[in-house]
Amino acid sequence: MIRENVLAIKRQVGFIASKINRDPEQITIVAVSKGRSIEEIKEAIKAGISDIGENRIQEAVVKYNTLKMRRPEFGNISWHFVGHLQTNKVKEAVRIFDLIQSVDSQRLAAEINKQAAHIGKIQDILIEVKTSPEATKFGFMPEEVIAAIKEMNKLKNINIKGLMTIAPRVDEPEKARPYFRLLRELKDNITKALIPLTQPLILSMGMSDDFPIAIEEGADMLRLGRAIFS
Ligand SMILES: *Cc1c(COP(=O)(O)O)cnc(C)c1O
Repeated sequence: MIRENVLAIKRQVGFIASKINRDPEQITIVAVSKGRSIEEIKEAIKAGISDIGENRIQEAVVKYNTLKMRRPEFGNISWHFVGHLQTNKVKEAVRIFDLIQSVDSQRLAAEINKQAAHIGKIQDILIEVKTSPEATKFGFMPEEVIAAIKEMNKLKNINIKGLMTIAPRVDEPEKARPYFRLLRELKDNITKALIPLTQPLILSMGMSDDFPIAIEEGADMLRLGRAIFS
């Protein structure tokens, strides 16, 4: 089932990307595997998934150790943290995650910078933006983001790769569009503000119920749980 799900999602991503003239290879599918077993993750990887997302450190460490440390063939997987990160878990997070998608405060960014410096790493991050008050209590307000980036740019051991948002649960996918659009407009405004960045910002948005809409609005990264694993 997981294999069929992944193939169907890839076909759908390809179809929507072609409609809007985007290269589907530029749209990363992150399999959010919280609560799923090692076996299920392996199946997703065998079906062509190369990005794994987790939202709890303890659970992620166990999976990472099993898949990455003991199984070199799974060594090319990128690990994404997508949950709320507490500062006392940052040391562990910096050790295992390639991308921390959910940086929701300046204090957290500073701690990530500090722990990354300790191990000589430049930690890639996304800034979580609260595009709706209902979806989550975490994240920067859209109007705070430019100032936040300016501040985070002073931290030498973090690299801001883009923005992430969680849209509220809605009864029709179309109703999620304004939240995705808001994130894309925010990116355009950041670009216009000429803030120095090492690369164009990417947008992580779109989950199982609404990812086609997110792609239409410019998503570079989708975070899919149920669409892959159920
Ligand atoms: C669980 C989770 C997802 C995936 O959710 P689905 O609706 O199952 O696709 C995506 N992003 C975050 C932050 C999550 O916690």
